[in-house]
Formats: sequence, structure tokens, C-alpha cells
Amino acid sequence: MTPPILEIEDLTVSFDGFNALNHLSFQMETGELRVIIGPNGAGKTTFLDVITGKVKPTQGRVLFKGRNLRRYSEDQIARFGIGRKFQTPRVYLNLTVRENLELAGARQKGVLSTLLHPLPKPDRERIQALIETIGLRPKANFPAGLLSHGEKQWLEIGMLVAQSPDLLLVDEPVAGLTDEETRLTGELLVALAESHSIIVIEHDMEFVRQIARTVTVLHEGSVLCEGSIEDVQNDPRVIEVYLGAPLEEPTSQKQP
Ligand code: ADP
Ligand code: MG
Repeated sequence: MTPPILEIEDLTVSFDGFNALNHLSFQMETGELRVIIGPNGAGKTTFLDVITGKVKPTQGRVLFKGRNLRRYSEDQIARFGIGRKFQTPRVYLNLTVRENLELAGARQKGVLSTLLHPLPKPDRERIQALIETIGLRPKANFPAGLLSHGEKQWLEIGMLVAQSPDLLLVDEPVAGLTDEETRLTGELLVALAESHSIIVIEHDMEFVRQIARTVTVLHEGSVLCEGSIEDVQNDPRVIEVYLGAPLEEPTSQKQP
């Protein structure tokens, strides 16, 4: 049997005696798109920091495809197949969309060699397909500096995918985006979820409703509850600690 892609057992992370994560257990299967929500300070970013190896557990274990990550550096863990997209885009503004993707997909070859030598045909086709997926075909040969904030986010998601990770970690992908960009970002993540395992951390509840299958709620460093978006938004514990009041339904679903 294949192990879960990610298994976290009794994880505690202590900063000077304060438990940012507190006996947290979590499991996710290959191919899942999981959304994690929780109030500020719940431990969401620390949770990602531990998975990527930036922060080491004080106690407990993180298993990626059955392998305990404890002994490995951030670089090694990235090479095992965990990719992270940060909140702020990190693209080369003076290179084109296509060049950014080619570089991301061929890091080991070095910048100059990648830019100076044409890619083999299968690689070129893969990058072209990725350009289509992220919706940037009309701008493939534009410098990334000319893209909107939303388009830069999609490019960065594309650059992450170009590295062929098995697990994608995406921290607040729609912060600062317009409603339309937010909707398109949701469509992109749902499309990528057909062939990737993805964890998305997000505050925007309408966006969470658009993409979520299973939602995990973090609170004070532990999992408070887990389930469908309906389960979670009706859970009295969630309403109490996270929302303070019942979650508002989208206008179209409001009862008269
Ligand atoms: P979230 O992303 O859910 O808002 P974080 O994971 O950033 O939460 O933080 C969880 C808690 O841990 C917060 O109370 C935060 O102040 C604390 N914390 C995070 N990183 C550190 C650190 N390096 N040193 C001390 N405290 C930290
Ligand atoms: Mg955070």
C-alpha cells in the first residue's frame, strides 16, 4: 500500500516555551487538494515551515511519502518533491514569462546555459502546456515586470509546477487579487489538483468555498476540526473560536 503523501504525528514546535504547534496530527492522501484555515496566530505558517524543513519539530514527526523529514535540510526536502509558493511573487521581472518558466524547470542547468541553449522539444512542449494552464499564452513573451499582480501569482504557481513537485504548498494565493483574478486562481488550483497534491492556506472564505473539498481548521497550534466546508462552517467550535459569529452565506444562497 502506498503511504499517505503527508503524515504528521503529534507535532509540537516550541519558540522559547510557547507552542506555536501543539500536539498536532494531520494526514493527507496523494492527489488531495486540502485547504487549511484558522485565525491569525493559529500556526498555519509554522505548519508549512515545518513541512519544508525551515523549522524543525520540538517533538513529533513529519513523514513525506513515508519518509521522516527530520534529518534533512530545506534543499533536500525540496528535492524530495515538496514545493512552496510564498505570498509575494519571486519572479525575474526582466525575463519573459516563458524564460521564467524554463529557468524554474531547469534549475540544475544554470541560468546562462538555460537561456542560451534551446530546450529539447519535450521540455519546450511541457513549458508551452504550462503557459496555457496558467492562462498566460497571450503574454508568454512579455517581460514578467509587465504582468499584473494576479498574473505574477499565476506565473509563480507555474514556476512551482515546472519544478515537478509531488506536493505543492500555497500560502494565501489570493491576497490582494481582484475578484476576477481570485476566481481564475481558484480554477487554476482546481485544474492543477487533477495531477498534484496541494495544500492551500487561505483566509478568503468565498475562495475557500470555490475550491475546497476537505477543510482543516487550525486553532492554537492544533487541528480543531476537519471536514467539508459545510461541516466546518456549521461546527459550533469553529463558530466560537474562529468566526465569533456564524459564517455568512454567499448572497445568492441567502434564505429570504
Ligand atoms: P498563522 O500563520 O496561523 O497566523 P504563525 O504560524 O505565523 O500563525 O504563528 C503561530 C504563533 O507562533 C504566533 O503566536 C506567532 O507569534 C508565534 N511564532 C511564529 N514564529 C515564531 C518565532 N520564530 N518565534 C517566536 N514566536 C513565533
Ligand atoms: Mg501566517
